[in-house]
Amino acid sequence: MAERIPEALQKKLSERLHFYEDLGVRLFYKQRGDSQVQSATTPPAVSFVSPAIQQIASEEAALPKNIRKPELPEAAPAPLRAVPPQTTPKPGVLPVPAGPSLFEAFDKVPDDTLLKIRTDLGECTRCKLHKTRNKIVFGDGNPKAELVFVGEGPGHDEDMQGLPFVGRAGKLLTQMIEAMGLQRKDVYICNVVKCRPPENRAPERDEVGECSPFLLRQIDAIAPKVIVCLGSTAAQTILETNRGISHFRGQWLEFRGRKLMATYHPAYLLRNPSAKSEVWKDLQKVMAVLGLEAKKGKSAEAGKSS
Ligand code: URA
Repeated sequence: MAERIPEALQKKLSERLHFYEDLGVRLFYKQRGDSQVQSATTPPAVSFVSPAIQQIASEEAALPKNIRKPELPEAAPAPLRAVPPQTTPKPGVLPVPAGPSLFEAFDKVPDDTLLKIRTDLGECTRCKLHKTRNKIVFGDGNPKAELVFVGEGPGHDEDMQGLPFVGRAGKLLTQMIEAMGLQRKDVYICNVVKCRPPENRAPERDEVGECSPFLLRQIDAIAPKVIVCLGSTAAQTILETNRGISHFRGQWLEFRGRKLMATYHPAYLLRNPSAKSEVWKDLQKVMAVLGLEAKKGKSAEAGKSS
């Protein structure tokens, strides 16, 4: 009979897997000797696996083997260009991917506006997500915002309402925005994909590929001073990297001449309240650049770990 794992260990393992998933380390699952999942055209991503992750992998290898492995995405994303290794960047100097990015290959649309972009998106059927969506969640907020938040993709509540970040994670994001001394209407909020992935799974590469040009146009049209990427999907898509978010979270990066800060996704914070203080530190850096002062009382709430 298969050996049962003690419940406490199961819980710990599950938390770790969620933790790494939130950090965007889905490739982690590719590193466990599953050679059949490595496509012939996809070079191994060994260089992106940190020693810490390797340690977890070896710990896990020592566990009894009757654990259900998290499913691999249908097509594991090919490694994108990594942010170059960090050679002690000068403060305020941002490590940028070398060479023109995927996004830079897109021509800017002259005099682009959010309305034009929404019109071009239309009743989109470019990817399979259209089949299961209820409403397209284009984005919401100030079209001239200095600060844009980019999430991963709509969840159930967003899909029902057609608005980004209106569920539980959205409520937390709203608290964070208010703690920064702003209101939701002051900022712009959007996602990498505009339609809800079924079961809230991570968007797949082809879906991101179809949708991200619209995100790019949104960012260009708004021309914010700062972009905050919420979670690994947003950060990895915009930065074109498959490095885990923990490698660059909280650092100033640059995206097409704009300042970019990647931080944890509010949904991750709901599961890991102790990470709120890290996110609050990241947001304080954003506030400093935007000349914002924390709203009294709210800041303590935003950084609170439970
Ligand atoms: N999570 C996201 O990434 N985006 C939303 O709009 C809601 C939840």
